[in-house]
Amino acid sequence: MNKKPLAVYIHIPFCEQKCRYCDFLSGQGSEQLKLAYFRALMHEIGHTDGSQYIVTSVYIGGGTPSCVQSIYIVKIMDALRARFEFAPKAEISMEMNPGTVRKSSLADYKSAGINRLSIGLQSTHDSELRSLGRIHDYKTFLNTYELVRSRGFNNVNIDLMSSLPHQTKEKMEKSLERVIKLAPEHISVYSLIIEEGTPFYNLYEKGELELPDEDTEIRIDRMVRRTLAENGYGRYEISNFSKPGYECRHNLVYWNRGEYLGFGIGAASLLGHTRFSNTRNIKKYIDANGMSGTNVQKLTVNDEMAEFMFLGLRKVEGIKEEDFQKCFGKTLREVYGDVLENQWGMGMITYKDGRWAFTEKGMDVSNTLMSEYLL
Ligand code: SF4
Repeated sequence: MNKKPLAVYIHIPFCEQKCRYCDFLSGQGSEQLKLAYFRALMHEIGHTDGSQYIVTSVYIGGGTPSCVQSIYIVKIMDALRARFEFAPKAEISMEMNPGTVRKSSLADYKSAGINRLSIGLQSTHDSELRSLGRIHDYKTFLNTYELVRSRGFNNVNIDLMSSLPHQTKEKMEKSLERVIKLAPEHISVYSLIIEEGTPFYNLYEKGELELPDEDTEIRIDRMVRRTLAENGYGRYEISNFSKPGYECRHNLVYWNRGEYLGFGIGAASLLGHTRFSNTRNIKKYIDANGMSGTNVQKLTVNDEMAEFMFLGLRKVEGIKEEDFQKCFGKTLREVYGDVLENQWGMGMITYKDGRWAFTEKGMDVSNTLMSEYLL
């Protein structure tokens, strides 16, 4: 039987403390809650029929997967291998936070097959880290990074954030310069988004959160792109940059609309023409031993065409006209001729060798442009 490629996501919803800007499905948890959660997670994985798939990537995210005992991560990987065949060079990533790893846990991650680590640094300025409510300072990050490298991890991402309160171009430049000096294989730079229900949102509503103005944001974004390009980090997606060959294969599956299966609370999946996601309620998930059912959304052709466009156009290489036609039996121009022409006229999108891709200007306002592809 020809097995289909599959990406797997595992959600670990625990963190040592909640960051002040974060609205992810994560929070503190007692050891007892963690144990119960992992039991349910193992049960969910153990009751999945993976016989038709070959796993090409796994992403263990959260939350902070490194804040739970490493034995849980080892067990999860064992459970996955018992249900799925793995491609020989499968990319297996795990997120971690500075200060939450020890030598012994890194050895466990290695033995579990984890070959890519993503470290949430966000800033190299302690004042910014404090304001974000991060649990670590820059020095702690440096120790973690050194430890990770000394244990032989040779595919490492570092996360940074821009548009932080009181952030200047010079401050961001300094963070970037320090990170580049460490020569990670991959750097992600996300803009802070003020999400409802977070402490930052409350401050923002009261007018007490001083964010950089639009001009500063644009200058920071341009500096980030230029500096990373000059130092050999190619931008391949709106917020992601890497050395050649180190693009995150797991995330590319999302943007290419490949099939993926998520385990754990809130985890989303896409199989065939169906999207589904697990309950976001941890108690419900544990009570049902990981089998609490999923919210299912059957995708229409219009949904899929729109997704093809707005996910694909996140990539710097954009989308291939030919792929659209192969998927949907219609030409891209038949469905989106007017939108493409309009965006092209405004200099937001380019066309070359059968590919459409946003220009730098288009990337700056990609959210607005993408909404124009909804049918
Ligand atoms: S560590 Fe990450 S997931 Fe946890 S609270 Fe902070 S931003 Fe959210």
